[in-house]
Amino acid sequence: MRVQEHVKLSAMVAIVALPWLKKDVWIPLASSVLIDADHYLWHAVTYRTLSLRAAVRYFGQANPPQLPQARLLHHPIVLGCLLVVAAHTRSRILWLILAGLLFHVSLDLVHVTQMNSLKRTLSEKAKYICPECGKHYEALQLHTVHFASNLFDRYNPRHFIVLCPVCHEKVHSKVSSPSFWENLAKKVVLQKE
Ligand SMILES: [Zn+2]
Ligand SMILES: [Zn+2]
Ligand SMILES: [Zn+2]
Repeated sequence: MRVQEHVKLSAMVAIVALPWLKKDVWIPLASSVLIDADHYLWHAVTYRTLSLRAAVRYFGQANPPQLPQARLLHHPIVLGCLLVVAAHTRSRILWLILAGLLFHVSLDLVHVTQMNSLKRTLSEKAKYICPECGKHYEALQLHTVHFASNLFDRYNPRHFIVLCPVCHEKVHSKVSSPSFWENLAKKVVLQKE
């Protein structure tokens, strides 16, 4: 799930929790957003660059590798350790941090499940044929054509298409060309009909 979406959802929950948490509300809010810094830190260490743009480009690839070492703060062992420490020390701050982290990880989980099921249904519908090049592929990849700002519309199948790995990579490297988007939009309409 994109950082912007995490910010939005966390802020919504924070508003609801405000009467109970009062001034402490920023603690889970911050931890539920800052947890994704692990991706950036991993990229900075691995590629020896502090460039945020390079990291955004890396994770904006068509199918960025899902390496567990790039999501250290999301790891169940790390979260489990924090839970033990929080239970031992009975630290309110630590519990609040943990609540934010767990909220984030649950959202990521929902997101991955939704995306996988979309990929499956759209691949079956396309009969495992890439609409761009017409080749048959067992493992088509899901591409988001439109990020719906309305959360209830976020996983609507009409915002997605399936592409072969080659064409998917092309889409992500050519996103700046407007004519490309026009062509793609036409193809999406055809695929849906
Ligand atoms: Zn995440
Ligand atoms: Zn293709
Ligand atoms: Zn894509």
